[in-house]
Amino acid sequence: MDQNLKMKIRSDFMKKVVIVGGGIGGMAVANTLISGKINAEVTVVTQSPHYFSGPSRPLLLTKEQTLDRIVRGYEEAIRKGVKVVVGTAFSIDPANRKVRYVGGYTSSGGVGELAYDYLVLAPGVVLDGSGITGYDKYRHNVLNVYDPGRVHLLRSKIWSAERGTIVVYAPKAPYRCAPAPTETALLIDSVLRHRGVRDKFKIVHIDANDKTQPPVIADVVSQIYSRQGIELVTNQEIVEIGEREVVTKSGERYKYDVLAMLEPNRAPKFVEEAGLGKTWIDVRSPQDLRHPKYDDVLAVGDAAGLPFPKNQEIAFESALFAANKILEMEGSSYRASVQYAFVGWAYVGNPEGRLESLSVRFGLDFTSQPPKPSKDPEPKRDYTLAKDNWEQSYLANLFGYS
Ligand SMILES: Cc1cc2nc3c(=O)[nH]c(=O)nc-3n(C[C@H](O)[C@H](O)[C@H](O)COP(=O)(O)OP(=O)(O)OC[C@H]3O[C@@H](n4cnc5c(N)ncnc54)[C@H](O)[C@@H]3O)c2cc1C
Repeated sequence: MDQNLKMKIRSDFMKKVVIVGGGIGGMAVANTLISGKINAEVTVVTQSPHYFSGPSRPLLLTKEQTLDRIVRGYEEAIRKGVKVVVGTAFSIDPANRKVRYVGGYTSSGGVGELAYDYLVLAPGVVLDGSGITGYDKYRHNVLNVYDPGRVHLLRSKIWSAERGTIVVYAPKAPYRCAPAPTETALLIDSVLRHRGVRDKFKIVHIDANDKTQPPVIADVVSQIYSRQGIELVTNQEIVEIGEREVVTKSGERYKYDVLAMLEPNRAPKFVEEAGLGKTWIDVRSPQDLRHPKYDDVLAVGDAAGLPFPKNQEIAFESALFAANKILEMEGSSYRASVQYAFVGWAYVGNPEGRLESLSVRFGLDFTSQPPKPSKDPEPKRDYTLAKDNWEQSYLANLFGYS
């Protein structure tokens, strides 16, 4: 038989796994399925031809991190056998097993459709300010370390402003990366000390939660804040943004010159439109990430409705559980070893304003009940370096190069 025909027949019989989102969760699923030698075509549809890693983005503020170290492309993953489609998924039809996407700038553009036998949703979060009055008009004032573009503008402002009030805001949990708002406040404090202008600025951290996140290190953060002169306001949800002030639900007004604000997080709208969940994607359990209504739709990472913090380790672990479930359904004996537990490092800046950030270590182990928290409250430079190694090894493992 003709070789091309043989290949076509083989691919017609291959299962089709479509993964939406080529980040931590999506790439972990793709790699695990490839390692499990599943007889399937694994396609990742992802909105950008590159991935921008999260954990050390806050260090772009202090210029301790550079973009080239935290951006990766998909070329090595493609070499390993993952198909990558650059496009933004905008609708899912779970009854007919179809994903629709609009082409990204390296594809031919236009709208495309992918059929699947298994769909894994790993699109991460969207930052949703739509419930905040004045957001549309003043969105350009809303800066933070979450967004690749806005982090640069925030950096430029804190390196050039002469005086004023900087408001940092954390929305109600769960949101992606619990300590990022406190990291933002403390790294801004370091930059201003480094510049010798800290006494010309007021830094106010407004938090919609009853303590800073994650709760396990809230006491440590509060002590460091009082030493560094950062004002902390808890239980205050921002509901309105103006040109120079924000208003909270209880009517308090805070003036700002620089607003470093994280919007509430949610899964992309197409999830709700497809009936797969409201704010997050519904799953059966943290170990069985299939949608309650559909055996062939799974969700992983930050977009999944898991009872855990939204961070990289949990995203990765949920991805391994999801990949294991697909392998099990396909009759493969391969399983990735996985359990839910994480260790993290939160940047706490440098009290003397040296651009060598210190970090505190914290963790949560979900293998015991109740989950076991751990922390070392002593800020250390070694922890910042450990976080860098950890992030770099994730990128090397998932994207195939350092
Ligand atoms: C500033 C910052 C600091 C952080 N710090 C830490 C930390 O210190 N420790 C820690 O453990 N975690 C940290 N995180 C969190 C960590 O990065 C995330 O939890 C993790 O990346 C979640 O993985 P994910 O696969 O769910 O989403 P992501 O890794 O974000 O991947 C989602 C992918 O899907 C793509 N996508 C989105 N929508 C669509 C669509 N409609 N169609 C196609 N593709 C789509 C995106 O472009 C992206 O490539 C931080 C994150 C940020 C932003």
